[in-house]
Amino acid sequence: MLLNDYLQATFGCKVYKLSLSARVTCPNRDGKLGTGGCIFCSAGGSGEFAACADRSIPEQIAEAKARVAAKVRGQAKYIAYFQSYTNTYGDAEYLERVFREAMEPEEIAVLSVGTRPDCLPQEILDMLERLNRIKPVWVELGLQTIHERSAEYIRRGYELPVYDAAVRELHKRGISVITHLILGLPGETHEDMKASLKHVVNVGSDGVKLQLLHVLKGTDLADEYAAGKVPVMEFEEYIDLLCELVPLIPKELVIHRLTGDGDKKLLIAPLWSADKKRVLNEVNRRVLPLVKR
Ligand code: SF4
Repeated sequence: MLLNDYLQATFGCKVYKLSLSARVTCPNRDGKLGTGGCIFCSAGGSGEFAACADRSIPEQIAEAKARVAAKVRGQAKYIAYFQSYTNTYGDAEYLERVFREAMEPEEIAVLSVGTRPDCLPQEILDMLERLNRIKPVWVELGLQTIHERSAEYIRRGYELPVYDAAVRELHKRGISVITHLILGLPGETHEDMKASLKHVVNVGSDGVKLQLLHVLKGTDLADEYAAGKVPVMEFEEYIDLLCELVPLIPKELVIHRLTGDGDKKLLIAPLWSADKKRVLNEVNRRVLPLVKR
C-alpha cells in the first residue's frame, strides 16, 4: 500500500510531513562508534530539509508548515518528523520533552523518529511507548542492507540481529517500524537487494523506504566515486529494479518512498535522479501498477 493511501484511510485527509530537528548527534559521528559517519551520510546527518535547528519546536513547526503550505489543499494534518542524525541518541528526558512539544498541536497526527536500531535502550523504548499512547509513533530504522559486507563498507556500525531485536522490542510496545533500504550499494546484485527487502517483510516491518544510493558532496562515498570505485545505477536499471522489488511487498506494508530525496545542491551522482518529473512519470507508469493495494 502506498503511504498516501494509508494516511488518507487512517486520518481521513491529506497528511504532510514536517521535518524538524531535535538537535541531536549520532554515535557514528561523535566518536562513540566512529567519527566519519556512514560513508554516504552528508554533513546534515542525512536530513537536508529539516527546519532550522536553533529555533524552538513551535517555531520549527511554523517554518516547516510554511514550506509545505503551497501544496496544502483543504483539511490537512501533519507528521512531526525527526529525520536528521540519531533521534533517540541522547537524554531520554530531554528527548521526551522535545517530542511531546512536537506532538502537542491538534493538527499533528503522528510522531516519526528516525534513528539507529542500536540506539534504543530500555528508557528510550519506555519513553516511546508512553508517547505512542498519546498519538501514533513511528520509528524509522536505517538498515540499508542485510548483507554484512555492504554494512561494513558503509560503516553502518551494527549487525543485522541488532535490527531484528529492535523491531521485536518496538512491536512489543505497539510502535510502528519503518525500515530504510538503500538500493545500489556497490557490489550488491538485484538478488542481494531482493533478499534485504524479503528480510524486512519477514520481520514484520510496518513500512519501507527504498532509497537510491546518492553520491553527495562532502561524503567519503564521493571520494570513492571520484576514484572510480562506485558504479551508480542508470535510470532504466533503477526502474527495472523497482519493478522486481515492489511485487514482493505485501499490501499491509506501507511503501513510504520509492525514489530518492537527496539535496540537489549536494548531488554528484546519479544526476538523472535530480530530474524528479522524469523519475515520477516513469514510476507512475511502470511501478505503481505493481503495488499491491
Ligand atoms: S547513522 Fe544516520 S546520521 Fe549517523 S552517520 Fe549514519 S546515516 Fe548519518
